Amino acid sequence: MSREIVVLGAGMVGVSVAWHLVRQGHSVTLVDRREPGRETSFGNAGIIQREAVRPYRFPRDLGTLMRVLPNREVDIRYRPTGMFGAVSPLLQYWINSGKSRYAKIVPEYASLIMRCLETHAPMVEAAGADHLVRRDGWLELYHTQKPFDERIAEARENRDRFGVEFEVLDAAGLYAKEPHLKKGLVGAIHWIQPWTVADPGALVQAYAEHFQQQGGRFMQAEVKGVEKGGKGWKVTTTGGETLEAEQLVVAMGPWSGKLLSRLGISVPLFVKRGYHMHYASADEYTPTTGSWMPRPASCSSRCVPAFA
Ligand SMILES: Cc1cc2nc3c(=O)[nH]c(=O)nc-3n(C[C@H](O)[C@H](O)[C@H](O)COP(=O)(O)OP(=O)(O)OC[C@H]3O[C@@H](n4cnc5c(N)ncnc54)[C@H](O)[C@@H]3O)c2cc1C
Repeated sequence: MSREIVVLGAGMVGVSVAWHLVRQGHSVTLVDRREPGRETSFGNAGIIQREAVRPYRFPRDLGTLMRVLPNREVDIRYRPTGMFGAVSPLLQYWINSGKSRYAKIVPEYASLIMRCLETHAPMVEAAGADHLVRRDGWLELYHTQKPFDERIAEARENRDRFGVEFEVLDAAGLYAKEPHLKKGLVGAIHWIQPWTVADPGALVQAYAEHFQQQGGRFMQAEVKGVEKGGKGWKVTTTGGETLEAEQLVVAMGPWSGKLLSRLGISVPLFVKRGYHMHYASADEYTPTTGSWMPRPASCSSRCVPAFA
């Protein structure tokens, strides 16, 4: 049965949801104050991360906590005022990162991530966006042996449990593959399955254009408020137009929490990172693999991309 649906937010999440809904025959209006894919979905590392089957844990071991608490590391930085403002979700994050809870979360999370390539594939094809995508994985680089060995052990488990494919490169293998890398690395893991996107914002735009070609409507306006009423939901926008819909999808990324709290829905949401840097490489130093990321010596959590 066809439904009238409004999707709020035209980042990667909102556009993908809208794309699939219109394909299923629904009447869909996608709303964003900007052009599609101009916020978080614009400035990211652009990896469709088939290998990332485990969510990032809140670091709980004393070594990592002592390392990051002084706030001088590159992999984890925090603003004390921001931490106070997010006490409740951070506490939930901490609790859910405990051993037994985390063990239960991993397979559920992995079941979603394992579908990422097959979910993007029809969108890439239909939107004619193949030129934006590389399908040769990415390299995770290591300076020291211990975290490298630990990561290899985890990768083996992820291969057995969740079908993650990888290749271990020792230093000789790595420099043979990427001769322009600075010397001193002990090796790398080549995650084979992930796709990399040089311009993530352009991919979102391509999906959004194809959504409109299929009959979806894109409206550029700021969402002011949402309330129950009319056919189900009423959305007020800056342009003065009020949208009515039977169903509503809230995909406003970091801004979703505020809107939902006005509806009495509390989501433990807080923002993590908000920057990106785009590096050009001289022709003679172009990496042969999609992208590289170094991991600091004692990094047990997410690390900063060097080339993306
Ligand atoms: C540095 C960095 C690297 C990353 N690398 C990767 C990676 O390699 N792979 C990966 O999968 N993920 C990565 N991520 C995460 C990924 O970018 C996000 O998970 C994803 O982009 C979130 O998409 P979204 O649609 O939820 O949010 P957004 O892209 O932020 O979209 C939300 C939209 O809502 C709109 N909006 C908000 N408020 C309103 C309003 N009041 N009215 C109208 N519109 C509104 C905004 O304009 C925006 O377009 C990275 C993130 C960062 C910061």
